[in-house]
This record gives sequence, C-alpha cells and structure tokens, in this order.
Amino acid sequence: MRDTRASLRARDILSRTGSGVPIDVAAVARECGVSVSEEELEDSVSGFLVIRDGRGIIGVNRRHHPNRKRFTVAHELGHYLLHGDDASVFIDSSPVFFRDDTSSEGTRVQEIEANTFAAELLMPAEILRERVGHHLIDIHDETSVRRLAAEFGVSAQALAIRLTRLDLITG
Ligand SMILES: [Zn+2]
Repeated sequence: MRDTRASLRARDILSRTGSGVPIDVAAVARECGVSVSEEELEDSVSGFLVIRDGRGIIGVNRRHHPNRKRFTVAHELGHYLLHGDDASVFIDSSPVFFRDDTSSEGTRVQEIEANTFAAELLMPAEILRERVGHHLIDIHDETSVRRLAAEFGVSAQALAIRLTRLDLITG
C-alpha cells in the first residue's frame, strides 16, 4: 500500500506516544491536546469535532459499541490533525457528512483521509504485519478474524478491510 499523508501522520503520532495494541486512542488524542467526551447523540451520528482557538473537542456517541467509539475518536482526531485548517466543525453521521466548509468533493477526500488515519492509528501496519507473520488470515474464518480484531480493539469488519488492503489474507 502506498503511504499517504494520513498514514504517515498516524505513524508519526504513534511513534511519539508509543502505545501498544489496543491503542489507547483517548490518551493519544489527549497527547495531541484534544479532549474526548461521550455525548448523547442521535443514533445516526457517530461523533463530531469542534475546533475552538486551536483546541480540539471530540464528542462521541455514548450509545455506540466501544469498538465503533474508538474508530470514531481516531477518525475525528484525523480531521483535527489533517483538516483543522479547512473547517472548525466536523459532524460525522452515516450516510451524510456535514462540514462548515468547501465542496462535497473536498468533503469526500477528507472522509477517506480521516478513515485512513484511523485505520493506521488503530491497526498500525507494522504491528499488524508482525502479528500476522507468515500465517496469513483467511477472512472467511470468523473465529480468527474476531480474535485478532479483539486484540486491536476494532470491529471484525474494520480488521477485514485492513487485512485486505495490507495483503495479509490468503487466497
Ligand atoms: Zn469524518
């Protein structure tokens, strides 16, 4: 996989905070000067980021599954670090994304970048490759996928996507 600026940024943050898996994403956010709080939000809303005087405030839907919350926090942190100059309010809901800036094309690119950042932060390529080693994963083997997903604190679906992108699957 090509290294994007989003992956590089995530790797840089990890090298400075030095967390093992599962990555303590709230602690990483705090290291970046961003506060995280659980909020009462509509079910369709995963979370939001507000930037005020350069400081980030991430709100995450308190009712969502812990793995989803971790991904949301990582995603919003990606917006803060990568897109903080473009907008000051980011609200992530599916399937609509709201942003107080720019074109829909710009928004789409930002979403992809924030997801790339989150994937690298929660499932660092280096750690995942080392963990998988020579025993490539069969993504149809639910037990192995779930076990590995639990180690990283991510959903089986997020892990399956990541393993596929990193070419760590059999077949
Ligand atoms: Zn987003």
